[in-house]
Amino acid sequence: MVIINTCSFIKPAREEAHGVFAEVQRKAAPGTAVVVAGCYSQMVGERIKRLLPCVGAVLGTAYYGRIADAVKAIRAGERPVWVNEAGPDIDVRRGPVRLTAPHLAYLKIADGCSHKCTFCVIQRLRGPYRSRPPADIIAEAKALKDASARELVLLAQDTSAYGTDGAGGSLAELIGELDDVGVPWVRVMYLHPARVDERLLDAFGAAERVLPYFDVPLQHASPKILKSMGRPAWKPEEALDRLAVIRERVPGAVLRTTFLVGFPGETWADFETLANFVAEARFEHMGAFEYSPEEGTPAVTLPNRVPAEAVAERYHKLMTLQQGIAEDRAQRLVGSSIDVIIDKIPPSGPAIARARFQAPETDGVTYLTGFSKNIKPGDIIKVKITGHDVYDIVAEPVGKPDA
Ligand code: SF4
Repeated sequence: MVIINTCSFIKPAREEAHGVFAEVQRKAAPGTAVVVAGCYSQMVGERIKRLLPCVGAVLGTAYYGRIADAVKAIRAGERPVWVNEAGPDIDVRRGPVRLTAPHLAYLKIADGCSHKCTFCVIQRLRGPYRSRPPADIIAEAKALKDASARELVLLAQDTSAYGTDGAGGSLAELIGELDDVGVPWVRVMYLHPARVDERLLDAFGAAERVLPYFDVPLQHASPKILKSMGRPAWKPEEALDRLAVIRERVPGAVLRTTFLVGFPGETWADFETLANFVAEARFEHMGAFEYSPEEGTPAVTLPNRVPAEAVAERYHKLMTLQQGIAEDRAQRLVGSSIDVIIDKIPPSGPAIARARFQAPETDGVTYLTGFSKNIKPGDIIKVKITGHDVYDIVAEPVGKPDA
């Protein structure tokens, strides 16, 4: 059996899915049950079967819980396509198996999105915003804690919109409740900038275990482009003020953001506004995407497309700028002591760990040398930073390792 879980958020994600499709088509032995699931299935449905003769079932985003049924159907000679056109129901059913290491767990608090960013296909693929009931989330967090989770990562297309769909509660309240569950590290991803308000910052500031990690995708800094994107059209100085408030109100705040470069109508002056903003804001972490026109989004109809070479050039300029900032930040950390969580201990070489400011699979890692044989994944230990490259750091435990 082969299950391909796909993403369709941007063109590179779809290209990656196609790469996997080609590999599976080449390698799958006759009789293999091949299931394609996720956002790309939701987007193209039936077409995947025509594209890939080996595919047995195509499941949209509401059907993860029916993968076993799909495999049974394939075995019975069917080729089902289960895709909900109208916007999927939230599907958070959990089986007994987690694909992450036992100490790390992703916790979905909502699905879909009701924002109207003009470049984004999410609402089409995943429907409007729906929050899970707070009691379900807390029950799952407790179950994950009982199953050895030491770090919870809260996910949704927009975590800060939690409860705004009338489901009750708010992210600020949820943070307080999750803090009490007792998992040592709780990380919140994907906060919409317009919803990072004082109440939310107070909740972060008051929490003991919810990390002061702010993943706030800003997408651009030019008000003209932001407006055209359907995002809050803040002036750069206004956005800088808001970032300053986060840093002031929440001690140790770490800021991560993402930008979209080459949006239709982006002039060189707009790009310079963005680059100057990045230089000024000095984010701890920054990612960027090159704009790609997404079928069915309002942005595909916009005039003044930026040529692909110019988009690539701007992307590289922005990433190079941030690289310097990241290196400078890492250099300043050398010599300081921090807590890290152990992720992996390979048979040889350094252990792989992460600091509070390093989200899993997103922000680089901490390479740990000179560690005790007694440490294990999920342990949180104090280390001293001894070196770095651009995005990763190197550290050694504080104190002598045990035998
Ligand atoms: S907030 Fe994020 S998920 Fe929602 S529409 Fe905008 S880019 Fe898409």
